[in-house]
This record gives sequence, C-alpha cells and structure tokens, in this order.
Amino acid sequence: MELIEHYQPEFVVRFAALAAPCQCPACQNGEQGWPRISVKMKNQQRESLDMRCETAAREMLLNPQAFILHTTEGEAQSEEMLSEWSETLSQHCINLAIHPALTPQLSLYAIGVLLSKAQQYQDGGECDPALIAAMGEQLATLAEQGVLAEQFTLLPPVVENRLAALKAMGQMRLNLNLPLAEKMGIALKLSELAIVQPTRLAERLTELEAIAANLPLFAEQPHILRNALIYQLYNDVFPGIRCANYGEALLALAERFFRINMLCAIRSEQGALTADDVVLLLSALAGWQQQNPFVGRAEHTPDHSLLCGLSLL
Ligand SMILES: [Zn+2]
Repeated sequence: MELIEHYQPEFVVRFAALAAPCQCPACQNGEQGWPRISVKMKNQQRESLDMRCETAAREMLLNPQAFILHTTEGEAQSEEMLSEWSETLSQHCINLAIHPALTPQLSLYAIGVLLSKAQQYQDGGECDPALIAAMGEQLATLAEQGVLAEQFTLLPPVVENRLAALKAMGQMRLNLNLPLAEKMGIALKLSELAIVQPTRLAERLTELEAIAANLPLFAEQPHILRNALIYQLYNDVFPGIRCANYGEALLALAERFFRINMLCAIRSEQGALTADDVVLLLSALAGWQQQNPFVGRAEHTPDHSLLCGLSLL
C-alpha cells in the first residue's frame, strides 16, 4: 500500500487536544466526527475543521501559528488525483497569501494576477506546472519590490460592483451567537442595505469602508485576516481540484473577504471590534455560506469574473 502525506495544521492539532468538548450551538447539533473535515485526494490529504464551530474558528483565527503544518503518512482514502498543475497553483496561491510584504488585500490582488495568467495558459492549452511556478516566483519578487502595491493603486475603481455586493448583503441572515439586542441590531443594519435608496447605499459603503480600513484590531493582530484567507485557500485546495474557471474562483474568494470586512465594520458600530467578535462573525458567515453557496454567472467570461473580483478588494 502506497502511503501519502496527511497534513494537519496546528489549529486542528490544538482543537483535538482540548480538554473539554466544545459546547457551541453548532457542536450541540453536530454529528459523529463533527467538526472535523478531511479533504481527501489520492496523493495527499488535508485535515481541517468546519468554521461553523466557534471553538474551531477561534483556534484557526486567533493563533499566529495556526497554519504550521504537521505532516504524517497515511493511506489514500480517495481516488481523486490532485494534478501537478493544480497542486502548483494551489501552493503558489498560499505562498502569496503568507508573503510578509503583502497585506491580505494585496495578497488577494496578487492571487488574482496569478490566476489571470493561469487562465491564459490553460485556455492556450499549456499545462506545464513550471509556468505557474515561474509566475508565482515573479509575483513574489514584485511583492518584495513594492511593485504589486503600486499596481494595485492603479486599478480603476468600479464602485458599482461594491455597491451591488453591499446591497446583496441585505439578504444575509446570520445566526450570530450574540445577545439578542446586538444580534437584532446587526440583522437590522443588514436588511436595511437591501432597501435603502441608491444615494444612501453609496454613503453607507463609504462609511463602512472607512471603518473597515482602520479597525485597530486588525492593525494589532494582522494574523486574524491572514488566517481567514489561508484557511479558505487550504480548505478549497484553491482555486479547486477540478477548477476550470479561475475568474469565478477569485470572485468567490474576493466576495467572501468583502463580506468579512463589511460585517466587521457593521459590528464595530456597536462598540470596539474584538477578536471574539470576528470569531462569531466568521462562524456565522460560514453557516450562511453553507446554505447559500456561490453561484457563478454562466454568461460571464472568466476574465470578467476576475475583474469583478478585483474590484471588490
Ligand atoms: Zn463548537
């Protein structure tokens, strides 16, 4: 029997070592094995946790070391092969997410540039993983030189896309584990987004973006947002094991981060945003996204979706 590598990030190890089982609402309804997740492939396996569990979300988000990987060997539990192309692309996306010269926002931008190139190669019938590796390394160098940050500021702002994304957040129903009055307050602020006049929506976007850009918590603990990004990349084997539309993958990822930023800004209007608030928000968001998965628009080309994604950063 051939053995493959099983990866276990630090947050999964720490969760497993907790003395008492988690009693969060999701765990009280959890089935056997919950909240463990295994992303099984024929040539590697990734252990993880479902973020609907608050303790799992806390371990993943708040520990700067959460993504130190522990590797063991085990048997393959799936026939699904992760191609060398997808593995290289996934690895370089993660490299850009943890690049010390990049903020999470710039990491997302760099990932977008990498995916745009990967899409061109793929559409042109080129599938040599060395092409991806070369592009990933080039982007890492540009990041060090500050060139990516410069290029990012030159992106034309497409405020319409962000307005539409904010308005769509009016449909979100979050099962937040907060005191009722605070939970209702957030629900009202969200549902308002779906019904306000366009001028008021635009004002709201400006307000929330200004708050989100200056949240003291993220300046003090930059690993929180970075961990949230790495989690998504790691769990989804981003952009995906069989992904053919990299633009859509980027759009889904960017949309998620747009929502995280807006939710954190909305919550901070009730009082200074704490690390625990982010845990509850991301956990509730994970629950909502489980019920409302991203749906791509068939009429959009990958390039169009990719540009939409970049405009949400
Ligand atoms: Zn739990």
